[in-house]
Amino acid sequence: MAQPVHLEQTIAAPLEFSGVGLHSGAPVTMRLLPAPGGSGIVFRRTDLDNFEIPAIGRNIAKVSYATSLMRQGVLISTTEHLLSALIGMGIDNVIAELDNLELPILDGSAWPYVEAFLQVGIRTQRRRREVIRVLRPVEVREGEKFIGVYPGSGYSIEYSIDFPAPIGKQSTQVDLATETYGATIAPARTFGYQADEQMLRNMGLIRGAGPESAIILDAHGPINGPLRFGDEYVRHKVLDLIGDLALAGRRIEGHVVAERAGHAMHTALVSRLMKDRSTWELAHVSATAVEEPIAPQPARSHLLHHPALIAL
Ligand SMILES: [Zn+2]
Repeated sequence: MAQPVHLEQTIAAPLEFSGVGLHSGAPVTMRLLPAPGGSGIVFRRTDLDNFEIPAIGRNIAKVSYATSLMRQGVLISTTEHLLSALIGMGIDNVIAELDNLELPILDGSAWPYVEAFLQVGIRTQRRRREVIRVLRPVEVREGEKFIGVYPGSGYSIEYSIDFPAPIGKQSTQVDLATETYGATIAPARTFGYQADEQMLRNMGLIRGAGPESAIILDAHGPINGPLRFGDEYVRHKVLDLIGDLALAGRRIEGHVVAERAGHAMHTALVSRLMKDRSTWELAHVSATAVEEPIAPQPARSHLLHHPALIAL
């Protein structure tokens, strides 16, 4: 889908999603509202006097299985799939109202958001879009985990993972300037191992998890298949990465390399970027640059549950 990338965008009409939080199991209704140019993504807790938490690096909370924001002791949890969908679809300004502490997990991917954005439409605003243009490499390494961001035009991501069987090693390369986020990344679901289920439940980490909201794996493969992509796992990691790096406050212009990373590494990179102001600059995207899919993705996915994707 071609986008006028030099101008900010918002959703054309309000949207509502209901479900449970993956980690808390808490029932939640979330409303997304159009917002004026320059407002960014702002979460609002309607159950706490409309307390607002902007989706920016300063508000990143302690991160383990999901990315959370905290301001003055108020929490918003598991922000990454919504933020990924917003960045991926080029939506800069939205107010996300929640009546509980965690976003709904929905089907474990960002596809329900993308589908809804396409249904109501995306509205171009007058304000010129700013990106975080990476000027110098920034890297974070922790044992075998690595993440780095480098100068580059557009927004491209190289991700490799190495999980226990049956996932093993997967890697992928995505250029968001030339590939369609909605078709290649958004449908990839989160995943977990059946063998870990009891432990995670006992720890209270997956109260809202089920076969409707995650790929569940036993030693042989997904027990609730089929997969939507052969490499759905690494694509989901890219989805998470885009959502976590959204906390830089704007879309990144640069090349990201991630190896065996996760939410903690993604958000550590955001913090590192925010700390060293010499590594990036705010830049306007040139008005002539238009996101245009120049190399259509070969159809290698199983999108049986998502016939609408064929139209993307
Ligand atoms: Zn995720």
